[in-house]
Amino acid sequence: MSTRRDFIRISAVGAGGTAIAWPLIQSMANAPAIADKAIYESMRRTPTYCEVCFWKCAGWIHKDDRGEVWKITGNQGDLHSNGRFCPRGTGGVGMYTDEDRLRTPLIRTEERGKQVFREATWEEALNYIADKLKKISADEGPECTALFSHGSGGKYFGTLLKAMGSPHIAAPSYAQCRGPREVAFQNTFGEGVESPERTDIRDTRCLVLIGSHIGENMHNGQVQEMSDAIDKGAVIITVDPRFSTAAGKSKYWLPIKPATDLALLLAWIHVIIEEGLYDRDYVEKYTYGLEQLKAHVSGMTPEWAYGITTIKPDIIRQTAHEMGHASPAVIVHPGRHVTWYGDDTQRLRAVAILNALLGSWGRRGGFYRPESMTVPEPPHPEYPVPKRTWRTEFPDLYPLADTVLANGVCDATIPDPSRGCNFKAWIVNGTNLIETLPNQENTIRAIQSLQLLVVIDTMPMEITGYADVVLPECTYIERYDEIRVSAHRKPQIALRMPAVKPKFDTKPAYWMARQLAKKMGLESFFPFEKIEDLLDWQLQQLGTSLAEMQRIGVKTFDRTADDLYFAPGEEVEFYTNTGKIELYATALEQAGFDPLPKYTPHEEPPAGYYRLNYGRAPMHTFSRTANNANLTDLMDENTVWVNPKVAAEWGLQNGQYVHLKNQDDKRSEFPIRVRITERIRWDSVYMVHGFGHDQKKMKRCYGKGASDTNLITKVLVDPLMGGTGMRGNFVTFVTEIEEVGS
Ligand code: SF4
Repeated sequence: MSTRRDFIRISAVGAGGTAIAWPLIQSMANAPAIADKAIYESMRRTPTYCEVCFWKCAGWIHKDDRGEVWKITGNQGDLHSNGRFCPRGTGGVGMYTDEDRLRTPLIRTEERGKQVFREATWEEALNYIADKLKKISADEGPECTALFSHGSGGKYFGTLLKAMGSPHIAAPSYAQCRGPREVAFQNTFGEGVESPERTDIRDTRCLVLIGSHIGENMHNGQVQEMSDAIDKGAVIITVDPRFSTAAGKSKYWLPIKPATDLALLLAWIHVIIEEGLYDRDYVEKYTYGLEQLKAHVSGMTPEWAYGITTIKPDIIRQTAHEMGHASPAVIVHPGRHVTWYGDDTQRLRAVAILNALLGSWGRRGGFYRPESMTVPEPPHPEYPVPKRTWRTEFPDLYPLADTVLANGVCDATIPDPSRGCNFKAWIVNGTNLIETLPNQENTIRAIQSLQLLVVIDTMPMEITGYADVVLPECTYIERYDEIRVSAHRKPQIALRMPAVKPKFDTKPAYWMARQLAKKMGLESFFPFEKIEDLLDWQLQQLGTSLAEMQRIGVKTFDRTADDLYFAPGEEVEFYTNTGKIELYATALEQAGFDPLPKYTPHEEPPAGYYRLNYGRAPMHTFSRTANNANLTDLMDENTVWVNPKVAAEWGLQNGQYVHLKNQDDKRSEFPIRVRITERIRWDSVYMVHGFGHDQKKMKRCYGKGASDTNLITKVLVDPLMGGTGMRGNFVTFVTEIEEVGS
């Protein structure tokens, strides 16, 4: 069995890796060295795709001659990873070896929130759930059950829900993360950005990052492409109140006043139009609304933006010139976690407009046209048509939301006499909702109103403490999952299969979902008893087989057309009302929203308070990695970044523990260490997300650092699509410290 020490040695991650991400990124450029090549070559390898983050890199799990997991490496043919795993992906084996894992089904014996459960057999736990779901469906309607999912297993619980007649399959990744950019780009180009993003970073000449975590959040392929682009001389422009890892690699760092990004974007649009820096042929041929846009931004000069953003006019002009000179090989990156201030769709509209003016959509070095495969569903009866949806309860809210909102379901679970129906049952798979949804009190109120909460996970999280039934899922190293299919430069599929038998009494999601379906009389929606047979059937429809995929792990297909980029003069029909790229968004206008983005000021921190910014570290992802021994060795607590001026005012010392308290008097449950650094503006503080867990059963991470979600009590909801803006919270310091757990 590999040890933590082995992990650090073989992945070339340990040395200096905790201080700043870039050395970690650089380490990915070289295949990790292994001490003994002969041992490596004798190892058996099993294909997988990584579950440590949403990037889902395809790789190999290597076992030694005793059949024990040794390490995980990238699959050379994989378009997501190019054969190189990031440090946290390499550490994924720690999810399998974690001794704190959930081991057996549990049924709650006391009130929700108290961690008192009894062990149960699978038969008993599944009967309990099936009986409750049937009763809730009969009494309240099947639509009163919702699924929250952020993991591969969610696919099969989704099938179960649809078979029951509920459309309520929600993923926090939409309203809590990237939904605004999808809506913004759909309303500009007629298509979203998708995941992995269609950014052609490897050939870009200018990359603009606005509040982006690239390099800190290991979006593997993108980070590698960014590294290559830098080597080829690309100009990087980073806009961030914090001197991020990306800022350290940039020609320009614009330390913007937080919450003013839209003013900068509008000023850039102004300069690009007024100075004729836009791609005239492209704009003339493909876009709609240049004249309206020009009039709209006419007064939004760099001097106007300076007063708002604190970025000097000559820097605004210079950076606009850099973009113009690189056009069309320029990317104003749409970002990923973009739910900040509640006007996020409009801010991302400005990002989309800039890209359109620069002619980067559909062009080399800008945004390519991705292509993917469709995995066929096996024959099954028609899904019942739901009688109600969350829209029925909130008909006028968030008209542009094109998916079920996790926060919307949460709100609609809290009893309200003005609504006809509340959600009664939640199935939560692979997402620690207590730390994922903003406004924890609201989430807990919703949970306390439920008749049934089922949590399916590999680890005991905060959310499992509230469950009626906990189902222990085996880790991705121990299971098959759905075929990975995602849009990329070429269509590609990847297989995940078990490298080892599940530890303890854990099971894969397919088995759980099918057993529940069987107990509820819905077995016909799962026509294959074994997932292997389902996957083989699906793979055969795609022209391969399970046997072949077990050997090769990933399979790449040819594109159906030679259209990665627009051909010169190509006639392109965009999926918008006008068939053009809409600088002026007609669909937004029809829905009663601003067709052109307008800057509106946001609330400023009160005296003695600082805007709470949060982000990522390269070795952690959400709650999923918090207790992972390999990764906590690299980083086991977060710090709060404080500007030296602020530290001096408060008399704070580097390394001192403080509590943070927000504008609503909510105090961080655990203390956090102060990191005094010039890398953060004086009006903000910064911390890495995913720490401060109060689940004692996760022994390694309990009480380490502070939770940002704890402090996000004010949520700025995007009226267009329901995104939950989380950057409108302010914190101050409490220097009196209580012992952890007191
Ligand atoms: S980026 Fe890293 S953590 Fe994410 S899927 Fe790829 S290897 Fe795993």
